[in-house]
Amino acid sequence: MMKIPPKNSIADLKAYDPCLFNGKYKLDANENPYGMPVKFIKKILAKLASLDLNRYPQPGAPELRKALGKKLNVNQDNIVVGNGSDELLLYLMMAYLEQGDSVIAPVPSFEMYGLIGKALGGKFIPVPLDKDFDLDDEKIIKSCNNRAKFVFITYPNNPTGNCFSRERIINILENTPALTVIDEAYFEFSEKTFLPLLKKYPNLIITRTFSKAFSMAGLRLGYMAASKDICDNVNKVRLPYNINSLSMFIAMEAMKNDRQMKESLDIIKKERERMFKEINSKYTAVKSDANFIFLKLNNAKKAKFAFEKSGISIRMFSKGPAAGWARITVGKPAENTAVLKILKRGV
Ligand code: PMP
Repeated sequence: MMKIPPKNSIADLKAYDPCLFNGKYKLDANENPYGMPVKFIKKILAKLASLDLNRYPQPGAPELRKALGKKLNVNQDNIVVGNGSDELLLYLMMAYLEQGDSVIAPVPSFEMYGLIGKALGGKFIPVPLDKDFDLDDEKIIKSCNNRAKFVFITYPNNPTGNCFSRERIINILENTPALTVIDEAYFEFSEKTFLPLLKKYPNLIITRTFSKAFSMAGLRLGYMAASKDICDNVNKVRLPYNINSLSMFIAMEAMKNDRQMKESLDIIKKERERMFKEINSKYTAVKSDANFIFLKLNNAKKAKFAFEKSGISIRMFSKGPAAGWARITVGKPAENTAVLKILKRGV
């Protein structure tokens, strides 16, 4: 029988490489190494029996949106919750991207913007960061022709870890007709946000996640805040039961226990500074506002061997503008010390 080819827009794409982990220290995906506090997990378990898991979850997660709205000081109609914030990136592009429209994002940055854009028939326009790892705002504005539908800005950026200059982002917001998504997945580590500007810029969309600071990557929960009009359009393509009852319930509890959930953040930030100071004395590295550090390796092959031998999984880049660089998630102090021990050898 004849093999049915996939649609043209995905024929040349490669599936996301999940870097399967079987080592000792997992420092490759910017997760919170501490997990949810045991006290919190016990509280959740005690309440679990009250969940009607035989029933479908509430479509659109209204209670969670209400709680998020209160926290963010926006109306719940201005929020959509996703099965991870990456699902929201997909929904946004499903709702707005026509065949041949362009998706603009700096490189290096989060790869999903280009991947989803191309899969949906869009044209991905990568705009390299400048030599200081800041946005080339003028080039981004120039790239916005009449087919520009999205500009994606990661704040702080992944993999470089820095927050781009605020003025340059404002320049983009002021001078592009496209929808501008500011991806604040690492907001809790930077505490810098564009959220208060939502009303001023109707084309602005902010996305965030419970995956990083909240230690809930495995539960898959993200959210976006935007105008009601944008949220209404995203809701047209959202699967009705995209958020499962368990994740919804745990996220609600996590928000009630916000302080407890964020206990690990201070340690992570302190460790980030300790790591950066040591790494920066020996390597070219970028000062990070997130929970990971981006550095230029001296010898990628040697580094790969050394980290693998020690059972430490880090993210190494071999293609594009980040080739020869590595992104290392800030782990627990002992994990970080093990990383620094390898890096001291000048790999
Ligand atoms: N945006 C950025 C910048 C990320 O680094 C990630 C996860 N690596 C995501 C979005 C997606 O996060 P999630 O789907 O877990 O919410």
